[in-house]
Amino acid sequence: MIPSKMDFATYILALKKLVFPGSCNLCRESLDAAQQTLCSNCIEKLPYVDNFCLKCAEPLPCIGICPECQKKPPNFRRCFTLCNYSYPVSSAIQQIKKNPYAAETKQLSLLFADHLYARYKENNLPQIIIPMPIHPLKMLTRGFNQSESIAYFLSTKLTEAVLLTHICRRKQLGEPQQLQTRQQRVKLSASTFNTKNQYEIKGKTIALVDDVITTGSTAKAATASLLKAGAKSVDLWCIAKTSWHNHSSSIKM
Ligand SMILES: [Zn+2]
Ligand SMILES: [Zn+2]
Repeated sequence: MIPSKMDFATYILALKKLVFPGSCNLCRESLDAAQQTLCSNCIEKLPYVDNFCLKCAEPLPCIGICPECQKKPPNFRRCFTLCNYSYPVSSAIQQIKKNPYAAETKQLSLLFADHLYARYKENNLPQIIIPMPIHPLKMLTRGFNQSESIAYFLSTKLTEAVLLTHICRRKQLGEPQQLQTRQQRVKLSASTFNTKNQYEIKGKTIALVDDVITTGSTAKAATASLLKAGAKSVDLWCIAKTSWHNHSSSIKM
């Protein structure tokens, strides 16, 4: 299906990239394989986060727990991100959001899967992968959920985890308010997300997948919904993340 919002030229370009290896989007060097968009040189230079908070993935001078998480631990167990939300990952994210056939989706998701394997050292990967749901109205206008595409590619590599796409639904459009107490989180999440088939996630460890996390409010609300439904823990996985404690809301969701 060609999503209605996608123009024909973008579709043809995406199809061409699927079949013929082109040149790197950044440095124009030839690519080794089709279905890629960045060469290995540029992949090495992406804005990775080397030192980060073990809870919220905020960049830190050295690995540890950031002051904000020490003061008020988030409701999720931990957050892992592939990169900072800065160029060229920011451009890749815009492609991932608007083009269901973007080569960036597969390439960055598979790269992220390798990073996740390295970070979950003791074979303690979450048991279930759930993509961040989008509101049905957004689904109608956009035609696809980019988090679902990322979660799919992750699940092809992280085969111990089961991908469940219809457990959690989004009931409200827009960003939930910053959530303060546990009671407020649970109450607000009930009005933003709806978790069904609770028996499938009861007592299970979950990874909630998003393309980019900005304020973290949506991720916390979805986490609260999954915890309320009986999940043991929720980890957040995102391709890119802005600084939450110093956040800019300029990303078009
Ligand atoms: Zn390159
Ligand atoms: Zn933190």
